[in-house]
Amino acid sequence: MDLSIQNIEYCKGVGTKRADILRKELGVKSALDLLYQFPYKYIDRSRFYYIHEIEDEDTYVQIIGHITEWHTIGAGAAQRLSATFTDGRHNIELVWFKGIKYVKLERNVKYLLFGKPSRFNHQYNFVHPELTPMSKVQPEMAKGLEPHYNTTEGMKRTGMNSKAIRTIVAQLIPHLRRQGVPDTLGMDMLEKYHLMGLNDALANIHFPVDNTAMQHARERLKFEELFYIQMQILRQMKRRELNEGYVMPIVGKHFHSFYRECLPFELTNAQKRVVREIQTDIKTGKQMNRLLQGDVGSGKTMVALLTALLAIDNGYQACIMAPTEILANQHYESICKMLSPLQAGPKVALLTGSTTAKQRQPLHEQLQNGEIDLLIGTHALIEDSVQFANLGLCIIDEQHRFGVAQRAKLWNKNTRPPHILVMTATPIPRTLAMTVYGDLQVSIIDELPPGRKPVQTLHYVNTRRTSINQFIEQQIGLGRQVYVVYPLIKENEKMELQDLQNGYNQLCQTFPQYRISMVHGQMRAKDKDEQMRRFACGETQILVATTVIEVGVNVPNASVMIIENAERFGLSQLHQLRGRVGRGAEQSYCILLTNVEQSKDTRKRMDIMVATNDGFRIAEADLQLRGPGDLEGTQQSGLPFELHIASLSTDGQLLDIARQAALEILDADPLLEEMHNRIYKQRLDFLRIAAGSWGEIS
Ligand code: ADP
Ligand code: MG
Repeated sequence: MDLSIQNIEYCKGVGTKRADILRKELGVKSALDLLYQFPYKYIDRSRFYYIHEIEDEDTYVQIIGHITEWHTIGAGAAQRLSATFTDGRHNIELVWFKGIKYVKLERNVKYLLFGKPSRFNHQYNFVHPELTPMSKVQPEMAKGLEPHYNTTEGMKRTGMNSKAIRTIVAQLIPHLRRQGVPDTLGMDMLEKYHLMGLNDALANIHFPVDNTAMQHARERLKFEELFYIQMQILRQMKRRELNEGYVMPIVGKHFHSFYRECLPFELTNAQKRVVREIQTDIKTGKQMNRLLQGDVGSGKTMVALLTALLAIDNGYQACIMAPTEILANQHYESICKMLSPLQAGPKVALLTGSTTAKQRQPLHEQLQNGEIDLLIGTHALIEDSVQFANLGLCIIDEQHRFGVAQRAKLWNKNTRPPHILVMTATPIPRTLAMTVYGDLQVSIIDELPPGRKPVQTLHYVNTRRTSINQFIEQQIGLGRQVYVVYPLIKENEKMELQDLQNGYNQLCQTFPQYRISMVHGQMRAKDKDEQMRRFACGETQILVATTVIEVGVNVPNASVMIIENAERFGLSQLHQLRGRVGRGAEQSYCILLTNVEQSKDTRKRMDIMVATNDGFRIAEADLQLRGPGDLEGTQQSGLPFELHIASLSTDGQLLDIARQAALEILDADPLLEEMHNRIYKQRLDFLRIAAGSWGEIS
C-alpha cells in the first residue's frame, strides 16, 4: 500500500462519512496526510503508580487495583456515585457525576485505572476515571507514550475523537515500517544535520519507542517544515531577483535641492544609512522589496520622502499608501509643507475615500499623463481605476494593516513591478520577519532623533483615580495635553462605546474647566477629523479615544498617554500607543491602568512595558507570551504559512539552520534544475498544489 496515494476513505476504521469529515476539517485526503497530523501531547503509559505516589493534579496516572465498595450520594441531577479504589496499600475515592447508570463496578476484579487526579478537601480523588478490567487491557494500551490528537467539533460528532484517530493511525504504522514513503529530504541533508529518516520520524512522532526517539522525530519534522517554508520564500526571492526592476541611478535636482535647502533637521545616522541602503538597491536594476522597521517616532516619513524624491528625479512617479485617512492627510500635509520652499518642486496629490468623484476625474487624468509626481493616499490608491503613467516606487506605511494580496496588487500598476518600500513601526521578532517577510530585504532605524526623552511608563490600578486626576491636572497646568485610550472591544461594539462615553462623561465632570475631544471608529470620518484637528491644534486639552489613534497621529505637545484596561491590549499595541507621546521636548508619561486583580500574564506584560522602551524586545516578549498567531502584524495580513509542529517562539535556532540549508541549495541552483535537487523541486510542487496558489500571493 502506497500511503501517499492511499485514499483515507479506504483505511481501516474510516469509511465515506469519516473521510468526508477528515477532508473538510483537516484537509486530510490520503493516509500520509493523516500521518502528518501530529499529536499535540503524549501521556506516559509506561509507568504504573501507587496511590501514595500521586503528587500533582496535572499528570495522568495509571494504577492497578480493585474496588472495595461503592454507593450513591444525593438524588436527581445532584446525584453522584462514589467508589473506593485500593492498590492494596492505600485507598482513593473515585467519583462519577454523569452517566452513573452506565458505570458497572464489580468487586474482586482487577482493574487498570487511568485518569487525572484532582484535589478535593485536601485529598486526591479521580473524577470520571477510565476503568478497564485487566483481562480486557490491550497490550498497546498500557505501554509507552500515548499520543493525543486535536479534534474539531465536527469530528467529534461522528465519533472521531482522539482515541479514534489513534486507532486509525496505529494500523498505518506497520505499513510505514514495511514499505514506507519516500523521504522529503535528501540523504546528504539527513547526514549533514543529523536528522532522522522520514519513516522513522513519522512512526516515532505517533508511537515513540521512548522519549529520546520522540524528540528526534519532532526535531526532524520541525526541520522539514521550516526548511520547506524557507525554500518557498527564498525561491520566490531568487526568482524575483531574476526579474528586472527599474534602474534609478540618478541623485538629481529635487533630492539635492531639498537636501541642501529644505531639510528641517539633521538626519540621524540611522536615517542616513537607510537612505543609502535604498539608493544602492534601486540603482541595481533589480526590483527592490524592502522592509523598513523603525520604532514609532524614529523618522520613517523623512526616509519615505527622500526615497520618493529619488524616484521622481529618475523620471518615475511614486506613491505613499497609509492605512487610515487621518494618517494619509497628515502625510500629505507634512510632506507638502516640507516641500513648499522648493522652487518648481514635484507635484503632490492626495487620494482617499473622501476624495469626491468630481475631484477624482482630473486627478486620474493627471496621474495618467504623468503630471502628478507623488500620490499620497489610502487603500483608494490600489483601486483598478487608478492608473499611473510610470509608477516606479510604492511606499506602504504601517504594513501590518495591509494584506499580502494588496501588496501584490500594487505590482501590477506598471509593466514591471515598481520598487516596494514597506514601513512598519511594529518591530517584528526575527523569526517572524524571516517567515512572514523572509523574501524582503530589511532596513532598520534603530536610533531616535536627538533630544527625545524616553517615555516614562507607570502601572497603576484603576482605583487610584484621585492621584491620576491630580496628575492630569498638573500636566495640563504645565500646558501639555493628554490622551485617554479605551480598548477596542471587538465582540461588543456597544459596550466599547459605552465605556468610552462613560469615561468621557466622567472626565467632563472632573474637569469642567477643560475642553475634551472624543473620537472612535464608528464616527463619520468628517467628525473624527474635526475632533482630531481640535486636539492637534491645542483647542482641546484631552482626547478620549479608542485605538483609532494608534497609528501615526502626531501631536508633539501631548505628553501623557493614559491607557484604560491595559490588560486588553497586546504588548505591541501598547507600545504603539505609548509612541504617541514623547514626541516633543518635554518628559512624557504613559500610564497603564488595570484592575486591582490581575492575572499572572497581565502582571508580566505590564512589567515588560514598564521595564523597556525597546520595541524589538517588546515584540520578542509578545511572541513568547502569545505566540505568532496573535501578534500585531500577522493578525490582519495573516501568516502566509501554517506551522503544524515548529514554533516561531521556541525554534529560532532550528529556523536559522533550516534557512541556511535552503539558501545553500538555492544559491547553487536557483531554479532547482539539477538532478540531485529534484527531490526538493517535487516536494515544493506538491506543497504548492496542496496549498492552492501560494506562489501568486507573495
Ligand atoms: P515615524 O517613524 O513614527 O513615522 P515620523 O516620521 O512621524 O516617525 O517622525 C516623528 C517626528 O520626528 C516628526 O515630528 C519628525 O518631523 C521628527 N523627526 C524625524 N527625523 C528627525 C530628525 N532626524 N531629527 C529631528 N526630528 C526628526
Ligand atoms: Mg509614521
